[in-house]
Amino acid sequence: MGPKAATSEKPAATEEPELTDGFHLVIDALKLNGIETIYGVPGIPITDLGRMAQADGLRVISFRHEQNAGNAAAIAGYLTKKPGICLTVSAPGFLNGLTALANATTNCFPMILISGSSEREIVDLQQGDYEEMDQLAIAKPLCKAAFRVLHAADIGIGVARAIRAAVSGRPGGVYLDLPAKLLSQTMNAVAGKKSLVKVIDAAPDQIPAKHAVQRALDVLKNAKRPLIIFGKGASYAQADDAIRELVEKSGIPFLPMSMAKGLLPDTHPQCAGAARSTVLKDSDVVMLIGARLNWLLSHGKGKTWGSAPKKFIQIDIEPREMDSNIEIAAPLVGDIGSCVTALLEGMDSTWQAPPAEWTSAIKAKKDENIAKMAPRLANTKSPMDFHGALGALRNVIKERPDTILVNEGANTLDLARGVIDMYQPRKRLDVGTWGIMGIGTSFAIAAAIETGKPVLAVEGDSAFGFCGMEVETICRYQLPVCIVIFNNDGIYRGTDTDPTGRDPATTVFVKGSRYDKMMEAFGGVGVNVESPAELKRAVDEALNSGKPTLINAVIDPAAGTESGRIGNLNPQSVLKKK
Ligand code: ADP
Ligand code: MG
Repeated sequence: MGPKAATSEKPAATEEPELTDGFHLVIDALKLNGIETIYGVPGIPITDLGRMAQADGLRVISFRHEQNAGNAAAIAGYLTKKPGICLTVSAPGFLNGLTALANATTNCFPMILISGSSEREIVDLQQGDYEEMDQLAIAKPLCKAAFRVLHAADIGIGVARAIRAAVSGRPGGVYLDLPAKLLSQTMNAVAGKKSLVKVIDAAPDQIPAKHAVQRALDVLKNAKRPLIIFGKGASYAQADDAIRELVEKSGIPFLPMSMAKGLLPDTHPQCAGAARSTVLKDSDVVMLIGARLNWLLSHGKGKTWGSAPKKFIQIDIEPREMDSNIEIAAPLVGDIGSCVTALLEGMDSTWQAPPAEWTSAIKAKKDENIAKMAPRLANTKSPMDFHGALGALRNVIKERPDTILVNEGANTLDLARGVIDMYQPRKRLDVGTWGIMGIGTSFAIAAAIETGKPVLAVEGDSAFGFCGMEVETICRYQLPVCIVIFNNDGIYRGTDTDPTGRDPATTVFVKGSRYDKMMEAFGGVGVNVESPAELKRAVDEALNSGKPTLINAVIDPAAGTESGRIGNLNPQSVLKKK
């Protein structure tokens, strides 16, 4: 509990009541609500808050940059369904954390960014305080909710509101502003304890309406070529058993979005991952489960979806998601566990598996694509191309399905997503809805901390550059993280040149860089590899030892393509070739 007032000199009868303060109330409020870990960067005014939290039994993981601490908190939220906590200093630290908070909100990850801030009186009169900034106002448009606490007695309520806002309904990022003065404010310890709130049922079940369930079943029943698409909302929901039962009982082929891979194994007979273009084009009824029809699904229209008329069923906790891009014939609003269970209950003995014509067409396409890919993945070229290197890593995950795979980059991301099969839920963590770069080391750290499982982070050299300093953090906490850098000397490729001959091209890095040396600088293991066999051996060794390892995988600088698979999003100048 809180510090005692200095009373030892006085007689017992006039002893002052025990006091607590803002520091202790924040820590007690988090602990009371089952928060075990804080990700952050220390500094004014929250240095002591971190120290005291650690002394009080919370795990406090200190990063080298707030954006990385924030990304770690966000993915911790995704993995645990509890809000991940990020703690930063004021103004610049807050702004660094804010990128992660906005990204968490975009991805529907529950997270709370707690930032210390300067004196309200000075900030509001713009009198130039140390790190002066109206942080609450700036955070508001970029997150799901934002709160500020001014009185120690309100800390309990403030933390409770932040937790509920982060995890209830569609999860997201919440900002909690704690002015420096609040932390040292004292109050009666007994009253302080009473002021804390234990949040009951923070993310209540949201039961779908019966008629909405029936409407969805009616649409599904009449399908000739049905398809289920899982998004990361489905993996977040942790309704794994019900989801598997729905897939297997219905017999409907399924397609996982990137982070939903492994919800059911990619090798499941109903998985249509290897026939993605075919099922998107030819399906007639598509049931989206925790996946949005955003750019990642071509907004539900255009060439990707073919000309065959389609009906969409959408399961989502957010009613406003319906019809966001196209008409949804059967919106099913509720939490995924409850919706899937209700659908299962409604599928009686008259339920018929989809026509064999559809499922066997998918199987034929899958077999064809898998056979086409096999020799590319088995190639032993040195320096490696992306496929040769990924073929090796694909075997690692096959042999160690327990491993968490973190993945970012351009080609490194796009190709790994297709090549590396996943076997278990929530094992693939990647760049998400924004396609953000620089999540790699922070996701790896949080995944290791939250799950205790080994982590393999496969990163492009460019992506790694946004977050590379956290290798020190990985070494400091001795985490079982193996980072593989696909080093092709640049962004997309390492072969571009400046047409004027003056500078390096805008997309290239130092040729022949040795990222493995960065890990060695902090006492970790660094390895340089040039062939798929060497790569496989080095990763196996790293995962067996559990030692922080960075493998510099030399990729042919000419191997990549512009923007990976999304080159079409680059605007082209019509004047370019003049
Ligand atoms: P992906 O990028 O994998 O397609 P998205 O992030 O686009 O996934 O979509 C996830 C969706 O899941 C969001 O619309 C979100 O509202 C929804 N969602 C998240 N958690 C739940 C839940 N427990 N129940 C229902 N829907 C959820
Ligand atoms: Mg590169």
